Amino acid sequence: MTKIDLTPEESELVGKLFSVLETSGKKYNMEKIAEAFRYATEMHEGQFRNSGEPYIVHPIAVAEIAAALGLDTDSICAAFLHDTIEDCPDKTDFNKIKAKFGEDVANLVDGLTKMEDIAIEDKEEAQMENIRKMLLAMSKDIRVIFIKLCDRLHNMRTLDAKPEHKRRTTALETMHVYAPLAHRLGIQRIKQELENLAVRYLDPIGYAEVSENIERKYGQNRDFIEKVRSYISDRLDEYKIEYRLEGRVKTVYSIYRKMFNQNKSFDEIYDFYALRIIVDTELDCYTALGIIHELFKSMPGRFKDYISTPKPNMYQSLHTTVIGRDGIPFEVQIRTKDMHHVAEYGIAAHWKYKSGERSREEIDEKLAWISKLVDTENETVDPDEFMSVLKNDIFNDETFVFTPKGDVVALPQGSTIIDFAYSIHTQVGNRMIGAKINGMIAPIDRIPQNGEIVEILTSQASKGPSRDWLKIVKTSEARNKIRQWFKKEKRSDNIEVGRGDIERELAKISRRLTDDQKLSIVSAVAKRIGIQDAEDLYNTVGYGGLAMSKIIPKLKDEFEKQVKPLEEEAPITNTDQVKTAGFKKSNNNGGIIVDGQYGCAVKFAKCCNPLPGDPVIGFITKGYGISIHKRDCPNVMSGMKSPEFFNRWIHAEWDNDALVSKNKTTFEAMIQIFAFNSISLIADITIALADMKVSILQINTKKRTNDDIIINLTIACKDTEHFTSIVSRLKSIDNVTNIVRGFS
Ligand code: MN
Repeated sequence: MTKIDLTPEESELVGKLFSVLETSGKKYNMEKIAEAFRYATEMHEGQFRNSGEPYIVHPIAVAEIAAALGLDTDSICAAFLHDTIEDCPDKTDFNKIKAKFGEDVANLVDGLTKMEDIAIEDKEEAQMENIRKMLLAMSKDIRVIFIKLCDRLHNMRTLDAKPEHKRRTTALETMHVYAPLAHRLGIQRIKQELENLAVRYLDPIGYAEVSENIERKYGQNRDFIEKVRSYISDRLDEYKIEYRLEGRVKTVYSIYRKMFNQNKSFDEIYDFYALRIIVDTELDCYTALGIIHELFKSMPGRFKDYISTPKPNMYQSLHTTVIGRDGIPFEVQIRTKDMHHVAEYGIAAHWKYKSGERSREEIDEKLAWISKLVDTENETVDPDEFMSVLKNDIFNDETFVFTPKGDVVALPQGSTIIDFAYSIHTQVGNRMIGAKINGMIAPIDRIPQNGEIVEILTSQASKGPSRDWLKIVKTSEARNKIRQWFKKEKRSDNIEVGRGDIERELAKISRRLTDDQKLSIVSAVAKRIGIQDAEDLYNTVGYGGLAMSKIIPKLKDEFEKQVKPLEEEAPITNTDQVKTAGFKKSNNNGGIIVDGQYGCAVKFAKCCNPLPGDPVIGFITKGYGISIHKRDCPNVMSGMKSPEFFNRWIHAEWDNDALVSKNKTTFEAMIQIFAFNSISLIADITIALADMKVSILQINTKKRTNDDIIINLTIACKDTEHFTSIVSRLKSIDNVTNIVRGFS
C-alpha cells in the first residue's frame, strides 16, 4: 500500500466522501474504493487544476457527488479514475485499470475518456463526436452518464478558474446537452444546479438581476409564506396525515427562463413560490390535494396528475397552482417519499434502491430513447443534425396521446402523426396511408395534442413513406426509420437523387470539370467523411443521411486541392459571357489555331490574359485542353526551362479571320493604374470606360501611401489595339501617373 500525503483540504474531502458512504445504508466495497482513490492520487501526482489546486481534488469531488447520488462501488471507483486514461496516458491505460479494478470499472472509465484526436477538422464536430461517443457508452452502461454529470457539475462549480472563452463554451454545452440529459434522466437536483451555474456564466447580468429580485421579493413576502404553511399544516394534522412541508422559491434559472422567454418583467412572474408536500402513500397525495383545493382557489388548467400518468423520466407528482388569500398565486407539488426520491435522483434512484428488485429490462425500457438516439451507430451523422436531434429528443417536453386501445404514447412536443406511427412500429409507419384523430380523418402532418386518440390507417398496398416526410417529422426515431426504408428500398433512386444534388454543386464550383475529375473529387470527399466510395456518398445524400451543407465545403476544398492548381492558368472571370469565351470560340474555329489545327479546346491563362495581337504559345494541360499564354508571360519563361513541362508546350497562333468575323469584346484584360488619390478618380475612370463602351469585370483599389493608390482593373477587351486605345484614354485622366498591363 502506497502512503499518500494529503493536504488538509484533500483529507477533508476524502473524509466527507467516506462519511457519505458510511451513512448511506448501502453496502460498499470500501477497500476497492480506497484503492481507486490511492491509484488516482498516484496517477495525477504532480498535476494541477487551473485553480492551482492539486488535480486529485477534482476526482475526489466527483466521487463525492457520485456517492451523494447513491451510485455503486464501481461507479465511485470510476469517478476517482475518470480522468486517468486521458490525462496520464504514459502511466495507465484501459488494460491496467481492467487488471486492477475489473472490466466494469475499466469500461466506465473508457466511456468517460474523450475521443482520441481523430481527424476532425471542425471543433464543433469534434465536440459532437465526443458527445456521441459518450451517449454510445451510456447506452451500454447508464452509469457512464451519471458519472459524467457529476464530473460536469464539479467542473461547473469551479468554472471560475477557467479562462473566459472556455467558460462560455463549457456553459453552453452544459445548457444544451448536460442539463437536458439530467432532466431526461430525471435527476432534477443536478439539472437545476447545472442550469443555474450555466446561466450565471452565460448571462451574469441577467442572473444577478433575477437573484437580487428573488431576495427582495422573498423578504417582502415572508409573512405570506409562513401563513400559507400554517394553514396547510393545521389541516393536514386534522386529517392525521404524515407529511413533510417544504416551502421554496423556484430556482433562479426557472424564473430567468420565464422572464426572458415570455418577455415578462420580474413582477409579472406569478408562480414564483412553490410548496411541496411529501407524504407516505399515494392515497395521501390525493387527500392532500383535496385539502389544498378546499383551502385555496385553484387556477383552471394548471392541475397535472403525473401520478397516474408518470413522465417518461419516471417523475411522479401532483401539481396544482392556487391563489392565496392575499391574491398571490403559488404552485403546490404533492408526492410520496419514494416519488420524491425519484424526482431528485431520477433513474439513478432506481439504481440505488431497486437494482436488485427491478428487472434490468424495466430500466432498459426506460432508457430505450438513448439507444434510439444513437441508432445510427455505424452511419455517418451530420453533427448539426445530431445536435438538433439531441435538443429535440431530450429537451422537449412530451405530449401524451392515446392509441385506440388506450395505451399512452409519449412523444416529444411538436411530433406529428408520422412520428406517432413510427413510434408504434416501423411497419405501421411504412404502411401508413392515413390517420384519424378522435375518430376524424386528419392529415398526417397534424401535430396531435395531449390526450387525443390517434389511429393510424395502414394498407399492405402502401407504396411506403414519402421523401417529404423527412422534412415533417420531429423525432430521430421516425427520421431514422424513414431513411432506413429509403436506404434499403430505393438505393438506385437515392444514388440518382444524390448524384444530381452533388453535381449541381460541383457545377457551381466549376463548369469545366471532367467526369474523371468529378469522380475523383467526390471519392476523396467520401473518404474524408468515412464513406466507402462515391456511389455510397450519392446514396447517403439521396436518402437524406447527410446534408449538402456539410458536403459543399469539402467539395470546394477537394477542388482547390486537386483541380485548382491545374486550372490556375485558365481565366476565371465574372461574366458567363467571358467565362465561356475560350470554349465558344473553339467551336467556331476557336480564335486560336493550335499546332495548325482548328477547333481545339482552348482557354486563356489567367496569369497573363493574352489578347488577340499578342504573340502566344499553348500549354497542354491535364484534362483541360490547351491553355494559351502570352509568349512573354513569366510563367512561360520559367516553365520552358522545367524538364517536366518541356514536352507540353505547343505552337499556337490567333485565328484572325475568325476573330474579325465575330468582332466581339470577349477577352479579359488586366490593367494596373497608379494614381494620386482624388475624390473623383474612380468616377473619372468608370465614366471614361463607359464612354468607350468598355465593361468593367472587376475593380479593386489598394492604398500605397496616403496620397498614392493603385487600381486593379479587369475589363472586357477586343484585342491589343483596342487595349492600347483604352490605356491612352485612361492615361489622360487627371492624377493618373502610370498604367501597366497585368497585375504585379
Ligand atoms: Mn473530470
